[in-house]
This record gives sequence, structure tokens and C-alpha cells, in this order.
Amino acid sequence: MKFRSAKQVWAEVYEGFYLSVGWGDMGAGTDQVARTYHCPFCRQSGFMRALPAGQGVLVLGVRMRWRCGACYEYAQRPLLLKRRGSITASQTRMARAGAGDYAVVDGLQAARVMSAIEQLPEHCYTWGMWVYTGLSLADLDKYELDVFGQRRLAMLGWLARELDGAGLPDVADDEEAELEQTLLFAVLDDARQRERCGRRLHSKTDIASALGVDRRCFDARYKWGKRYAAAVVALERLTAETLGPVSAVVEGLRRGGLAA
Ligand SMILES: [Zn+2]
Repeated sequence: MKFRSAKQVWAEVYEGFYLSVGWGDMGAGTDQVARTYHCPFCRQSGFMRALPAGQGVLVLGVRMRWRCGACYEYAQRPLLLKRRGSITASQTRMARAGAGDYAVVDGLQAARVMSAIEQLPEHCYTWGMWVYTGLSLADLDKYELDVFGQRRLAMLGWLARELDGAGLPDVADDEEAELEQTLLFAVLDDARQRERCGRRLHSKTDIASALGVDRRCFDARYKWGKRYAAAVVALERLTAETLGPVSAVVEGLRRGGLAA
């Protein structure tokens, strides 16, 4: 895999790595290794410091031996970035793939990207995780299917609030509320599919017929057309907000920077 775009790097990082609670003696790590430690509170990497033996604070009877230099929270253990397949991130090597592209095979690079992603506002994080990570629907196991469904539902709630915020009138009754939900799910699923593979899932005509209305009702002058247009604009803005900070990190890594 190559550093082509923020969304590809996003997918690759979460396919290759995960954050897990660190066990065992991690105090002896080098500075390089410590950059793959993430704060369990602000989730940034590279700020967790082991406190000298005998120091640390007691919280509910548990000694917190680590402290984050970014948010100053104390923690029992840092989150550790691990490579899927049980080799720890710090054991991997940095490598160059052909044609001047860097491969994300290095845990330190993955830690930088993941750190930026984990700090996104919650709706951006949920959107990006829903869109850019995970397998195709057919390959989802039960647990991942639950997470998938929860993220999709969370995005429905966000999008409905965006429409309210855009000053669109409330739906008139239960039947309309149900139609609006059908519309918003269709717009969300379509936007996800386009971001993932550049192909549409539902045309305007498909969505209109799912709502049981004529395609002409999707003209921006009309009730459903206004909602459709507002939802599409909201998701375009959300996608830009989500990928912006990740693109900045990817661009920095592409230029060869690993320094904080
Ligand atoms: Zn922190």
C-alpha cells in the first residue's frame, strides 16, 4: 500500500494496527517505542511517560504509574499500538515501496496517523471510521456488524440534527418522519459507497421511488428535494472536515517527517 490519499491511509492503518491496553513491563521502552504509546484519555501518541518507581498517584486504590504530557492525565497503563497478527508495532521496519511512495509498514507512522484520527471531533471520527474502515458488508462478523450499525445510526442522528440546524421545517407526522429516515439512510449509504469506491449506491430516482414519490419531487424547490440537497451538502462538508487533519499528517509523513 502507498501513501496515495488520506482515506487510503486511514483504511490501511486500521487494517494493520489496533490500540490495546498495554501489559507487562513497558517502562523500559526507548523513546522510539514510546511514540507508539497512546494516552487512554486524549488518545495522542508520543506523550505517555512512565513515572519513576514509587511515584504516581492513587486513584480509587489503583496506582497510576503513567502520565500524559499532552493532557496531564494519570493512567495505569498507556494504550499500545499493536500490529494485527501479534508483532508489536515497534518491531516493524520503515520501508519504501517503489516510485518514491512510502509504505505504511512502520508503527511510528501509523501511530501519527491514528493519533490525528483519534483526536477528531466525535461526529467526524464516527463518520470516518464508518466510511473508511472495515470490511465489505458481506465479510462483517457479528461484532463488527454491531459496530457498523451503531455508527450508521449515530450518523443518522447527526444528519437529522444538521437538517434541523439548516432551518428545514420539521416533518409533519409519523409517516413523514419514517420517509425522512429512509431518505437520510439512503443518502448516508450512497455517500459512504462513493467515498469507498467512487461508485454510487442509490441514484436520486432510486431514492425517490423508495420514498414513493415522483423523481420531480427531488427538485430543490420541494420538500424532499430540499432535504436531499441539504443532506448531500452536510455530508460533503463533513467529509472535508474529517479528512483535512488526516491529510495534513499524511502530507507531513510523505515529506519524510516523523518529528512531532
Ligand atoms: Zn492525554
